[in-house]
Amino acid sequence: MFKDFQDKFPDIKVSYELYRHFLKKDMNISFTLLGNEECEDCESFKLHQPTCQDSASCDTCISYKLHKQKYEKARKCYQEDVDLSTKFTEKAFYSADLQKVIMLPHFIDCIQLANSGKVTVKPMEVTDFYKYIDHSSQHKLKKSTNRIYLKDIVSVEVRRNNFNLFVKTEHDGELREIGFLKMKHIKSHSIPDPIQNSSPRGITEARKSAIISTLTRVIPENRLPFWQNLHTNDNSIDLVNILDVDDCDE
Ligand SMILES: [Zn+2]
Ligand SMILES: [Zn+2]
Repeated sequence: MFKDFQDKFPDIKVSYELYRHFLKKDMNISFTLLGNEECEDCESFKLHQPTCQDSASCDTCISYKLHKQKYEKARKCYQEDVDLSTKFTEKAFYSADLQKVIMLPHFIDCIQLANSGKVTVKPMEVTDFYKYIDHSSQHKLKKSTNRIYLKDIVSVEVRRNNFNLFVKTEHDGELREIGFLKMKHIKSHSIPDPIQNSSPRGITEARKSAIISTLTRVIPENRLPFWQNLHTNDNSIDLVNILDVDDCDE
Protein backbone atom coordinates (compact mmCIF):
# COMPACT_ATOMS: atom_id res chain seq x y z
CA MET A 1 0.00 0.00 0.00
CA PHE A 2 2.82 2.39 0.95
CA LYS A 3 4.73 1.44 -2.20
CA ASP A 4 1.63 2.13 -4.21
CA PHE A 5 1.31 5.55 -2.57
CA GLN A 6 4.95 6.42 -3.35
CA ASP A 7 4.50 5.39 -6.98
CA LYS A 8 1.40 7.51 -7.36
CA PHE A 9 2.79 10.60 -5.61
CA PRO A 10 6.56 10.61 -6.22
CA ASP A 11 6.80 14.30 -5.27
CA ILE A 12 5.49 13.80 -1.77
CA LYS A 13 8.29 12.77 0.57
CA VAL A 14 6.86 10.92 3.50
CA SER A 15 8.22 8.24 5.78
CA TYR A 16 6.43 4.94 6.26
CA GLU A 17 5.79 5.82 9.91
CA LEU A 18 4.14 9.13 9.06
CA TYR A 19 2.09 7.52 6.31
CA ARG A 20 0.95 4.85 8.72
CA HIS A 21 0.20 7.38 11.44
CA PHE A 22 -1.92 9.43 9.03
CA LEU A 23 -3.96 6.44 7.93
CA LYS A 24 -4.60 5.39 11.49
CA LYS A 25 -5.40 8.80 12.91
CA ASP A 26 -7.34 10.43 10.11
CA MET A 27 -8.73 7.57 8.12
CA ASN A 28 -9.32 4.98 10.81
CA ILE A 29 -7.31 2.40 8.93
CA SER A 30 -5.12 0.45 11.26
CA PHE A 31 -2.40 -1.87 10.05
CA THR A 32 -2.52 -4.13 13.04
CA LEU A 33 -6.27 -4.56 12.87
CA LEU A 34 -6.09 -6.44 9.59
CA GLY A 35 -6.98 -10.07 9.98
CA ASN A 36 -7.15 -10.13 13.76
CA GLU A 37 -9.79 -11.98 15.68
CA GLU A 38 -11.34 -9.41 17.94
CA CYS A 39 -15.07 -9.25 18.49
CA GLU A 40 -17.16 -6.71 16.60
CA ASP A 41 -17.96 -4.62 19.68
CA CYS A 42 -14.28 -4.25 20.52
CA GLU A 43 -13.42 -3.47 16.90
CA SER A 44 -16.00 -0.72 16.56
CA PHE A 45 -15.08 0.76 19.93
CA LYS A 46 -11.43 1.00 18.87
CA LEU A 47 -12.56 3.09 15.93
CA HIS A 48 -14.86 5.20 18.07
CA GLN A 49 -12.50 5.91 20.99
CA PRO A 50 -10.06 8.39 19.34
CA THR A 51 -12.94 10.59 18.15
CA CYS A 52 -14.97 10.58 21.37
CA GLN A 53 -15.32 14.01 22.98
CA ASP A 54 -17.07 13.17 26.23
CA SER A 55 -16.65 9.56 27.18
CA ALA A 56 -18.35 9.92 30.60
CA SER A 57 -21.72 10.70 29.06
CA CYS A 58 -21.31 8.79 25.79
CA ASP A 59 -23.61 5.80 25.25
CA THR A 60 -21.05 3.94 23.14
CA CYS A 61 -18.37 4.33 25.81
CA ILE A 62 -20.71 3.35 28.63
CA SER A 63 -21.92 0.21 26.88
CA TYR A 64 -18.34 -0.68 25.98
CA LYS A 65 -17.35 -0.40 29.61
CA LEU A 66 -20.01 -2.99 30.47
CA HIS A 67 -18.88 -5.17 27.57
CA LYS A 68 -15.31 -5.06 28.90
CA GLN A 69 -16.40 -5.95 32.43
CA LYS A 70 -18.34 -8.90 31.00
CA TYR A 71 -15.53 -10.35 28.92
CA GLU A 72 -13.00 -9.95 31.70
CA LYS A 73 -15.31 -11.77 34.07
CA ALA A 74 -16.03 -14.44 31.44
CA ARG A 75 -12.32 -15.07 31.01
CA LYS A 76 -11.92 -15.39 34.76
CA CYS A 77 -14.76 -17.94 34.92
CA TYR A 78 -13.19 -19.83 32.01
CA GLN A 79 -9.85 -19.92 33.82
CA GLU A 80 -11.55 -21.15 36.99
CA ASP A 81 -13.02 -24.04 34.97
CA VAL A 82 -9.57 -24.80 33.54
CA ASP A 83 -8.19 -25.00 37.10
CA LEU A 84 -11.11 -27.14 38.27
CA SER A 85 -10.75 -29.51 35.33
CA THR A 86 -7.25 -30.42 36.47
CA LYS A 87 -8.49 -31.25 39.97
CA PHE A 88 -11.70 -33.16 39.21
CA THR A 89 -11.53 -36.28 37.15
CA GLU A 90 -15.20 -37.26 37.59
CA LYS A 91 -16.46 -34.06 36.03
CA ALA A 92 -15.88 -33.13 32.38
CA PHE A 93 -15.36 -29.59 31.15
CA TYR A 94 -15.82 -28.63 27.53
CA SER A 95 -15.37 -25.38 25.72
CA ALA A 96 -16.48 -24.68 22.18
CA ASP A 97 -15.18 -22.19 19.68
CA LEU A 98 -17.30 -21.44 16.65
CA GLN A 99 -15.19 -20.77 13.57
CA LYS A 100 -16.13 -18.93 10.45
CA VAL A 101 -16.03 -20.59 7.03
CA ILE A 102 -12.51 -21.90 6.61
CA MET A 103 -11.28 -23.14 3.27
CA LEU A 104 -7.91 -24.60 4.20
CA PRO A 105 -8.04 -28.35 3.51
CA HIS A 106 -5.48 -29.27 6.21
CA PHE A 107 -6.93 -27.00 8.87
CA ILE A 108 -8.46 -29.85 10.89
CA ASP A 109 -5.21 -31.84 11.13
CA CYS A 110 -3.21 -28.71 11.94
CA ILE A 111 -5.44 -27.62 14.80
CA GLN A 112 -5.51 -31.09 16.34
CA LEU A 113 -1.75 -31.49 16.08
CA ALA A 114 -1.09 -28.03 17.48
CA ASN A 115 -3.16 -28.83 20.56
CA SER A 116 -1.65 -32.29 21.15
CA GLY A 117 -4.93 -34.03 20.39
CA LYS A 118 -6.91 -32.20 23.12
CA VAL A 119 -9.03 -30.34 20.59
CA THR A 120 -11.70 -31.98 18.49
CA VAL A 121 -12.52 -30.17 15.28
CA LYS A 122 -16.03 -30.75 14.02
CA PRO A 123 -16.50 -29.78 10.38
CA MET A 124 -20.13 -28.70 10.03
CA GLU A 125 -22.10 -30.61 7.41
CA VAL A 126 -25.50 -29.79 5.98
CA THR A 127 -27.05 -32.49 8.18
CA ASP A 128 -25.68 -30.80 11.31
CA PHE A 129 -28.19 -28.01 10.80
CA TYR A 130 -31.86 -28.14 11.74
CA LYS A 131 -34.92 -26.08 11.09
CA TYR A 132 -35.72 -25.04 14.61
CA ILE A 133 -39.22 -23.84 15.23
CA ASP A 134 -40.03 -21.20 17.79
CA HIS A 135 -42.25 -22.85 20.40
CA SER A 136 -42.23 -19.95 22.80
CA SER A 137 -45.47 -18.54 24.05
CA GLN A 138 -46.08 -14.95 22.98
CA HIS A 139 -48.57 -14.68 25.81
CA LYS A 140 -45.97 -15.66 28.42
CA LEU A 141 -43.38 -13.33 26.93
CA LYS A 142 -45.77 -10.38 26.92
CA LYS A 143 -46.88 -10.75 30.50
CA SER A 144 -43.40 -11.43 31.89
CA THR A 145 -42.06 -8.63 34.02
CA ASN A 146 -38.40 -7.75 34.02
CA ARG A 147 -37.90 -9.46 30.70
CA ILE A 148 -34.44 -10.88 30.00
CA TYR A 149 -32.89 -10.28 26.59
CA LEU A 150 -30.60 -12.73 24.86
CA LYS A 151 -27.90 -10.09 24.42
CA ASP A 152 -27.62 -9.71 28.19
CA ILE A 153 -27.41 -13.41 29.04
CA VAL A 154 -23.93 -14.57 30.04
CA SER A 155 -24.70 -18.05 31.37
CA VAL A 156 -27.38 -20.66 30.66
CA GLU A 157 -28.16 -23.79 32.62
CA VAL A 158 -30.32 -26.56 31.20
CA ARG A 159 -31.69 -29.21 33.54
CA ARG A 160 -32.82 -32.64 32.46
CA ASN A 161 -36.62 -33.08 32.67
CA ASN A 162 -37.12 -29.39 33.25
CA PHE A 163 -38.66 -27.25 30.52
CA ASN A 164 -37.47 -23.96 31.93
CA LEU A 165 -34.10 -22.34 31.41
CA PHE A 166 -31.88 -21.02 34.16
CA VAL A 167 -29.97 -17.93 33.15
CA LYS A 168 -27.63 -15.29 34.51
CA THR A 169 -27.10 -11.79 33.21
CA GLU A 170 -23.98 -11.34 35.32
CA HIS A 171 -21.40 -14.01 36.03
CA ASP A 172 -21.65 -13.58 39.78
CA GLY A 173 -25.32 -12.67 39.73
CA GLU A 174 -28.29 -14.84 40.66
CA LEU A 175 -29.61 -17.68 38.54
CA ARG A 176 -33.07 -16.79 37.21
CA GLU A 177 -35.58 -19.39 36.09
CA ILE A 178 -37.47 -18.50 32.94
CA GLY A 179 -40.45 -20.38 31.50
CA PHE A 180 -41.37 -19.44 27.98
CA LEU A 181 -42.71 -22.53 26.20
CA LYS A 182 -46.32 -22.84 25.06
CA MET A 183 -48.57 -24.56 27.60
CA LYS A 184 -49.28 -27.53 25.32
CA HIS A 185 -45.60 -28.48 25.32
CA ILE A 186 -45.35 -28.19 29.08
CA LYS A 187 -48.44 -30.41 29.46
CA SER A 188 -47.35 -33.01 26.92
CA HIS A 189 -43.81 -32.79 28.25
CA SER A 190 -42.42 -32.71 24.74
CA ILE A 191 -41.58 -30.51 21.83
CA PRO A 192 -41.44 -31.85 18.26
CA ASP A 193 -37.96 -32.69 17.01
CA PRO A 194 -36.62 -30.07 14.63
CA ILE A 195 -36.36 -31.06 10.97
CA GLN A 196 -32.86 -32.03 9.92
CA ASN A 197 -31.50 -30.41 6.78
CA SER A 198 -30.85 -33.00 4.06
CA SER A 199 -29.55 -30.86 1.24
CA PRO A 200 -27.89 -27.47 1.04
CA ARG A 201 -30.36 -24.69 0.53
CA GLY A 202 -28.38 -23.19 -2.32
CA ILE A 203 -28.92 -20.05 -4.34
CA THR A 204 -30.29 -19.60 -7.84
CA GLU A 205 -28.01 -20.23 -10.81
CA ALA A 206 -28.55 -16.61 -11.96
CA ARG A 207 -27.56 -15.22 -8.59
CA LYS A 208 -24.50 -17.44 -8.40
CA SER A 209 -23.15 -16.32 -11.77
CA ALA A 210 -23.87 -12.68 -10.94
CA ILE A 211 -21.92 -12.96 -7.68
CA ILE A 212 -19.01 -14.76 -9.34
CA SER A 213 -18.72 -12.28 -12.20
CA THR A 214 -18.66 -9.38 -9.71
CA LEU A 215 -16.21 -11.05 -7.35
CA THR A 216 -13.80 -12.17 -10.06
CA ARG A 217 -12.80 -8.53 -10.43
CA VAL A 218 -12.21 -7.86 -6.74
CA ILE A 219 -11.08 -11.00 -4.91
CA PRO A 220 -8.04 -13.25 -5.33
CA GLU A 221 -8.47 -16.31 -7.50
CA ASN A 222 -7.90 -18.72 -4.64
CA ARG A 223 -11.02 -17.41 -2.87
CA LEU A 224 -13.28 -18.16 -5.80
CA PRO A 225 -13.75 -21.94 -5.31
CA PHE A 226 -16.02 -21.27 -2.32
CA TRP A 227 -18.44 -19.44 -4.63
CA GLN A 228 -17.92 -21.77 -7.56
CA ASN A 229 -18.80 -24.77 -5.40
CA LEU A 230 -21.94 -23.21 -3.97
CA HIS A 231 -24.96 -25.44 -4.39
CA THR A 232 -27.57 -24.12 -6.79
CA ASN A 233 -31.30 -24.48 -6.46
CA ASP A 234 -33.64 -22.44 -8.60
CA ASN A 235 -36.41 -22.83 -6.03
CA SER A 236 -34.41 -20.73 -3.55
CA ILE A 237 -35.73 -17.33 -4.53
CA ASP A 238 -33.80 -15.51 -1.85
CA LEU A 239 -32.32 -16.40 1.48
CA VAL A 240 -35.13 -15.06 3.59
CA ASN A 241 -37.34 -17.94 4.54
CA ILE A 242 -39.50 -17.73 7.62
CA LEU A 243 -40.88 -21.09 8.60
CA ASP A 244 -44.52 -21.14 9.49
CA VAL A 245 -44.93 -22.70 12.94
CA ASP A 246 -48.06 -24.54 11.82
CA ASP A 247 -46.11 -26.35 9.11
CA CYS A 248 -44.18 -28.32 11.65
CA ASP A 249 -46.29 -28.20 14.77
CA GLU A 250 -48.32 -31.28 15.52
ZN1 LIG B 1 -15.42 -7.50 22.58
ZN1 LIG C 1 -17.59 7.64 23.41
